[in-house]
Amino acid sequence: MKSVKLKGAAETLPIGKILCIGRNYADHIKELGNETPERPVIFMKPASCVIGEGEEIVIPPYSDDCHHEAELAILIGTGGREIPADRALSHVAGYGVAIDLTLRDVQAEQKKKGLPWEIAKGFDTACPLSAFVPAGEVADPQRLRIMLSVNGEPRQDGSTELMIHRIPELISYLSSIFTLEPGDLVLTGTPAGVGRIKSGDGVVAEIPGVGKLSVTVR
Ligand code: MG
Repeated sequence: MKSVKLKGAAETLPIGKILCIGRNYADHIKELGNETPERPVIFMKPASCVIGEGEEIVIPPYSDDCHHEAELAILIGTGGREIPADRALSHVAGYGVAIDLTLRDVQAEQKKKGLPWEIAKGFDTACPLSAFVPAGEVADPQRLRIMLSVNGEPRQDGSTELMIHRIPELISYLSSIFTLEPGDLVLTGTPAGVGRIKSGDGVVAEIPGVGKLSVTVR
């Protein structure tokens, strides 16, 4: 079973469900030519696809176009259902850096056929994840810079200020559909600049004040 580390905590926490938000930054919606959704777009990744610092991404043989998406990850510490937005942040234990790896060619094919995205989003190694910092150490999660580079070349540089659906609203909405449990994660969407990674690449995602995550592609 995969688990997360919260800095300063004695024990690791088993990862529950990984709830991911799609199309949450206008500049990224534009670069993929998608429509802006009225409600958050939700999909899930299984906990089994998480890898940690220094580990290897393995691109499945059925894809030739694996994209990086750097994202702010939220660790739920206190569970709940129908959580009001104004109390949502009190359910957050910590924040981390995630890469929502996406097989863009496979996803496009699934979208065209009206089929689910799991094979494009939930394959083994599809969710590199940093350690988490306690929520109390992050002054304003809605004012964080998100960066990602490939082989030292900057690819993504955005800010959580630019989210369409903000963190309290996301938690509140998700909790109206799924009971949130301690150890659940929320990946909050990616800013513009997504692109292809290939064998041999070194990928570094960083959110200053939260963490840094380095992985390689086998
Ligand atoms: Mg994403």
